[in-house]
Amino acid sequence: MLRGRMRSVVVRLSSIVLVSCATTAPRAVPPSLDAFGDRVPWAQVGDEAAQLLSGYLQVDTVNPPGNELLGAQFLAAALAKDGISAELQVVAPGRANLIARLPAQGPPVDKPVCLLSHLDVVSAEPSEWPASTPPLGGVITPDGFVWGRGALDMKGMGAVELMAFVLLKRLSVPLARDVILLAVADEEVDNTGMRALVDHKWGELDCGVLVNEGGLGLTNMLFEGQTVFPIAVGEKGSLWLKVWAKGEAGHGSTPVDTRAPGQLVRAIEAIAGLPTKATIHPAVYELLRRVGVHKGGFTGAVLQGRALVDLFVKGRLLAQPPSRAVMMDTCQLTGFEGKGSSPNVVPSAVAAIFDCRLLPGTSPERMLARLHERLKDLPQISVEVLQAFPGNESSWDDPFFDALARNVVRGRTDAVAGPVISPGFTDSIFARPKGVKAYGLVPFEVEGAELGSMHGRNERVSIANLRRGVEVLFRAVVETAGRP
Ligand SMILES: [Zn+2]
Repeated sequence: MLRGRMRSVVVRLSSIVLVSCATTAPRAVPPSLDAFGDRVPWAQVGDEAAQLLSGYLQVDTVNPPGNELLGAQFLAAALAKDGISAELQVVAPGRANLIARLPAQGPPVDKPVCLLSHLDVVSAEPSEWPASTPPLGGVITPDGFVWGRGALDMKGMGAVELMAFVLLKRLSVPLARDVILLAVADEEVDNTGMRALVDHKWGELDCGVLVNEGGLGLTNMLFEGQTVFPIAVGEKGSLWLKVWAKGEAGHGSTPVDTRAPGQLVRAIEAIAGLPTKATIHPAVYELLRRVGVHKGGFTGAVLQGRALVDLFVKGRLLAQPPSRAVMMDTCQLTGFEGKGSSPNVVPSAVAAIFDCRLLPGTSPERMLARLHERLKDLPQISVEVLQAFPGNESSWDDPFFDALARNVVRGRTDAVAGPVISPGFTDSIFARPKGVKAYGLVPFEVEGAELGSMHGRNERVSIANLRRGVEVLFRAVVETAGRP
């Protein structure tokens, strides 16, 4: 899921979070398109999605090593049952991406709508899981849940996307744009699948919009009784560093000021003192505005005005680590490297490891320049860059975003959806530079225990979420890509 594990920026202000409802002028949905969704036996589809997910969870794509070719073959076989062929792009031995396309009838009116997921899952220790629901069991329990590693992150979404995709074919939905199903390898470790897709396949894919993992619906996220669906429209970039201090090795009995460990402490202090400027991203203002419209009353009015948000809400956002993280560039000290062989030995080199996250608009080069400025009086310090790429964002002024936001709260008066920036990153960050508008929304609604199961020893998703998820994506895709 989101690297940096932000899961979606659930900005929790004391008990406030992100949301949206379509407050801008809603784009009308032609009745002929709405009718397709009304013709689907959704309960049956939910059961089918649960069976599909159960089988998918039993395919071992734990990364490392991944073995995502097995997952891609499983999905390809599921598509074949509906007469849809898929291409497998091998990206490494035993590792592959899946690409399947439903073409537009006639000349496409716009670039394709793409449904993206990743095939791999994080590791799981079977001995820690309940014996009746092992991580690779795909067990469906009588209370209506599908259990297994990846149920939430993100084979559940992958199964939902595949079902929505297949329904387009089954119902012969006339398409004005191509719809492409993508499932890629290695999101959880090195993103090699998505990088290969972007580097070698993008010319033929050229997605105009895509939906991928990102926000999840959160009950009581900001206000009691209100569910918020944050849709990630942007993600922070990444700058991973090793800050080295070097000096003469020596004996602990004879302190010398220029030893490496002491110099490293000074460097860490200097980096910790990096000036920060907290800003509320326009996406977060928009989410708060939508939440405010939905909430109503005095609190709702406050959330709808930027000046009032700055005055009354900004401080609360800053006080909460998840929302604070999307208000500024950050550098978190995450560990150390190098030590003496004994307590009385001073090593010649030690390093501190930093995970810096950069708001869209802050380049890694700019952050490095700021760090070097902070460290310029410490000549024994050098900075090694382990990974660097900038954040990016997509405009949410798009029919597909509107369709996702509208359908994820369809028929509900207690829910709102809106844009947000994520403090972590997903595969979407590699696609946006190609021009695609990438949105992060897993159309499930989870409460504390179910959300907490992600990457845990009890990961599961309800069949109700799967059913609803297929409907949300199907309707959103039909509204965006269907030909009225
Ligand atoms: Zn994921």
